[in-house]
Amino acid sequence: MEKQYDYVIIGSGISGMTMSLILGLLGKKVLLLEIASDIGGSLRRFRYDGIPYDVGFHFTGGLHDKGMLYDMLKVLGIWDSLEPIFLDEDHSCKFIIDDKFYNFPIGNEKIKNSLKNYFPQHISAIEKYFQLIDEVCSKTDNMDLRHLNTLRNSQSLDFVSLKQVLDDLTDCTQLKTLLSGYCMCYGTPPSHISFANHARICRDFYQSIGRVKLGGDAFVNAFKDAFSNVQVDVICNTTISECLDIDQARIGRLLLTNGDEVKFQNCIFAIHPKQVLDILPREKLRKALIHRVEDFQSSCGFFSVFGIRGGGNTNGSNNITGMFSSADMDAVLNYDCPDDIAILLLRSEEMVDGKNVQVFTALEPSFAQATEAWADSRTQRRGTDYHNYKQQKVSKIEQYLKNCFGINGETFEVKTSSTMLTYRDYLHSPDGSAYGIKQLIGQFNLFGRLPLRNVYVIGQSALLPGIVGAMMSAFIVARSVEDKEKIDKLIARSLSI
Ligand SMILES: Cc1cc2nc3c(=O)[nH]c(=O)nc-3n(C[C@H](O)[C@H](O)[C@H](O)COP(=O)(O)OP(=O)(O)OC[C@H]3O[C@@H](n4cnc5c(N)ncnc54)[C@H](O)[C@@H]3O)c2cc1C
Repeated sequence: MEKQYDYVIIGSGISGMTMSLILGLLGKKVLLLEIASDIGGSLRRFRYDGIPYDVGFHFTGGLHDKGMLYDMLKVLGIWDSLEPIFLDEDHSCKFIIDDKFYNFPIGNEKIKNSLKNYFPQHISAIEKYFQLIDEVCSKTDNMDLRHLNTLRNSQSLDFVSLKQVLDDLTDCTQLKTLLSGYCMCYGTPPSHISFANHARICRDFYQSIGRVKLGGDAFVNAFKDAFSNVQVDVICNTTISECLDIDQARIGRLLLTNGDEVKFQNCIFAIHPKQVLDILPREKLRKALIHRVEDFQSSCGFFSVFGIRGGGNTNGSNNITGMFSSADMDAVLNYDCPDDIAILLLRSEEMVDGKNVQVFTALEPSFAQATEAWADSRTQRRGTDYHNYKQQKVSKIEQYLKNCFGINGETFEVKTSSTMLTYRDYLHSPDGSAYGIKQLIGQFNLFGRLPLRNVYVIGQSALLPGIVGAMMSAFIVARSVEDKEKIDKLIARSLSI
């Protein structure tokens, strides 16, 4: 059966859903293809013993009034379907470095003041760091929907590492660790990421941190509702089997794995760049582009422990604690330093059958090498040695949590755990990394139009990782593929500007 669309979007994570809805709102006829049995990608939650757990969306910045995420959700018309839950600014974020507790509040001024109290000899370094963050973000046109302009204008701090900037600012190791602590939220070590990209990602987290009632499922449900009002068709359990009728660097038709044939104007990939190469005919791509993509390195993934907690003080229980046994964040995000333990502990409240349940997720950075012995196996078909490996990891993390929080009477009952292989299989990603590719200094990501002229790429590996970066990549490409003015009018109307 042959169908005709203006756009085919491949991959229904937050970036693919965002792109589909923008185009739908512009009156375009869109087909959204998803290889899994449901849409949503990393946003979809899973349930264990009836309790919902988040997969790839726990907390985010940008939900505050006029924040990046707030703006994008407003333009998409789904802001009102979501119920944001903001973290307490003063008490909900902490770091523990080498057994020392640091309160890391939310809001630039509060963070600065807190850091100045801890490190009175380094006040000018703290001021300068936040000044540089502001400078980068104010000069980045594509971080603000209200002033969207160019694709990306590089700045000098795009070519200097976060580590270099911190080393130039201060010799205080603990302060440097705190200022780079959020690298767990993009999975690239301080010596590999540019200061500018660190700034673009962290600015949001410094301004506000929130989650959403019902987690990523709330987003997915809101998109599904919105799709029913525009011309977006969704087909799950399906991908592209072959690109057909390639003429003058344009793909004419797609053959899908369900046997359908689709004609279209443009297709937009919202999947990992290496998976894009697996689908496109390689002979139509330049060798340099293929090598560039093959050379992309994976961001870290996570070994995750999910469970419920009790005891202690559970008031205001949406909170985040970053725990590092070493103050060297490069070592923490490096497979070759297995003795350094780092855990991002995320605690939240869920209503289950009318009862309030305290839920926790402990994420420990992990790398493909850790599970390569089982790389050829699939979920539910892995042997005893794999389960022993998991059990050892769980015990180590449990013990670490007990040592840190047992003194307050807080308890952690583990329900289940997952490795990068679990994420790989569940999320249909090539390697189970949390943030796609590492954001290396000076790297040209696969983003926007490809040499095949009606083929585009978006997603977390295209612009910046995290749901904000993934969504923003869709807005930027939508403006290059469709009438800019129409999109800007939609933005202006939705944001009353
Ligand atoms: C453990 C973990 C924790 C995280 N925590 C946070 C957090 O708290 N906050 C935050 O902002 N970000 C977090 N992230 C990152 C965030 O989840 C991602 O940045 C974002 O969701 C990526 O969106 P995406 O649309 O680029 O890709 P994805 O969500 O990966 O979606 C890609 C989709 O494409 C589908 N697909 C793959 N191949 C094909 C194919 N050939 N054909 C059709 N469909 C295909 C997949 O099934 C999937 O549905 C986390 C990630 C992980 C793994």
